[in-house]
Amino acid sequence: ASAPPDYDATLAVRRRHYGPNTSLSYERPLLFVRGAGPYLYDEAGVSYLDCVNNVSHLGHGHSEVAAAVSAQLHTLNTNSRYLHPQLPAYTRQLLDTLNSQRPAQPQPSQSPGSCSSNSGSSSGCGCCASRTGAISSSSSSSGSGSFGSGATSCSPRTCGSAPAASPAASLTPSSSTIAAPAPAPAPAPSGARGAGDPLEVLYLVCSGSEANDLALRVIGAARPGAAHIAVMGGAYHGHLTSLIPLSPYKFWGRGGGGKPPHVHVVPCPDPYRGEHLDGRAAARAVLAAAAAAGGRLGGFFAESVLSCGGQVVLPPGYLQGMYEVLRSEGVIVVADEVQCGFGRCGAAFWGFQTQGVLPDIVTMGKPIGNGYPLAALATTRPLAAAFASNGMEYFNTYGGSTAAVAAGAAVLGVLLRDNLQAHAQQVGQHLMASLKRLAADPALPGPAVEVLGDVRGLGLFIGVEIVRDRTSKRHAPVTAKWLKERLKARRVLLSTDGPYDNVIKIKPPLAFGQREADALVEQLRQVLATELTPGVRAALEAAEEAHWGAVGGPLMRRYRDNAAQLGLAAGPAAAAATVRDAAAAAAMAAVGQQ
Ligand code: PMP
Repeated sequence: ASAPPDYDATLAVRRRHYGPNTSLSYERPLLFVRGAGPYLYDEAGVSYLDCVNNVSHLGHGHSEVAAAVSAQLHTLNTNSRYLHPQLPAYTRQLLDTLNSQRPAQPQPSQSPGSCSSNSGSSSGCGCCASRTGAISSSSSSSGSGSFGSGATSCSPRTCGSAPAASPAASLTPSSSTIAAPAPAPAPAPSGARGAGDPLEVLYLVCSGSEANDLALRVIGAARPGAAHIAVMGGAYHGHLTSLIPLSPYKFWGRGGGGKPPHVHVVPCPDPYRGEHLDGRAAARAVLAAAAAAGGRLGGFFAESVLSCGGQVVLPPGYLQGMYEVLRSEGVIVVADEVQCGFGRCGAAFWGFQTQGVLPDIVTMGKPIGNGYPLAALATTRPLAAAFASNGMEYFNTYGGSTAAVAAGAAVLGVLLRDNLQAHAQQVGQHLMASLKRLAADPALPGPAVEVLGDVRGLGLFIGVEIVRDRTSKRHAPVTAKWLKERLKARRVLLSTDGPYDNVIKIKPPLAFGQREADALVEQLRQVLATELTPGVRAALEAAEEAHWGAVGGPLMRRYRDNAAQLGLAAGPAAAAATVRDAAAAAAMAAVGQQ
């Protein structure tokens, strides 16, 4: 075996020679050498539970995807200017998921030890062969800081992962929930959608940013002269020159240049604080703002569940109201499903389906290739025709390449075969219920558990909003970051997000099962019970004040000013928050921090 990589040298060269404004997670970054299912292994073989990587959708090191890509690379990899049967086949299969709603039908768990994914599957997952005899069937308690050792069986969600863990690596994938094959797609209930045409045309590209940039081009072609765009507060739509201006997450964040005049920011619904819940009112406001600025709204981009916006589940009917009002003015509506798509939301295969709408354009990325660079845009026939009407060819060297299609087809095949949407639903419900129980646990010290302000989500797309206390609901980004670091020390990987960076994000590979969910909750419980002591809380409180004065407060004022300019100032909650700003400013002035 080759020597493990030198951590210090790797970090030093990375810091010196790689782009200085790229980020590394955690104060002491992690070096991983291998992944399997929902686990990552560092250079010393220590395993970490990955609760956040929604790109490795099926799991890390997924053997079926790796085998499909590898076989394709060994056989043929060309661009889409030549015919290859897998591209149209994949196109049809992917478009089918968009136009027919797949209800999640949780299936009874199968007994451990059976591998339903192999039966009747011509591809076969190969997991049984790779694991048989390699792993003992013992397991240990999951509450002690190691999540158990020894696999008990193969499961459809985990068997695609890399060969079994080495004896040094003690964590193993879960086999706790196994869903039966997918139910037949059912049509959406009639009248449950917006007025969209079916999504019949696909373009394959290489990244979520490319997909959203292409959406802008389609909008430009179909609505010439309507150059204004509306986006959601807190949104991120990509890193390109065309998309930073559509991303309040960036243009109002550190280093951002502010909101361009042609972009209109819809105040982010905040169901936890009861603010900005009316999609119709928001749509009318951005239409009016565009007109007041002398422009016309061409398009509206929104994630169907807001990810960078803080794992916000939109209120029921929100997008329906928004779409109806915007479409009455001809605005093209885009659902960015880059984070929340492909079954993660559990209740539906696509996030927009949970809102009962059908967008004009859907952009997708991240999970689509399980890490292989692949992304897509789906649209209607009339919009595709408008985009093609000037005669210019659309060509993308790697988008739709033979190997990229092989990756996408393998991922979609596994997702549908193993009904991972239902799995996300089952495990997500279990995890949400456990987190809510934790937040209400009388056995935990009151001041510690008070920081768990809100638990929300759909399927395995969950957010835990961290607050200073539940009465004021003040954002607590420093505490959120501290929790993230403490959980890392317990080998649980999470991230924080939201405009104020105080929402703990949970969006694991779908190889994540109930046992992993229980391990995550148990580790969080232990941090709250034993590490978030009164002394630590006091230190965090002081740091929160300073941080809010420098970062959160000014940003909140920007969002408030924007809402006020749109005529959408929030009601009593905003007033309370203003009082709170004043109180915080006074408190900071008192300790000389301003
Ligand atoms: N849209 C959303 C919602 C995203 O989260 C991201 C990536 N974080 C993108 C678009 C851009 O995707 P990519 O990084 O693949 O360009």
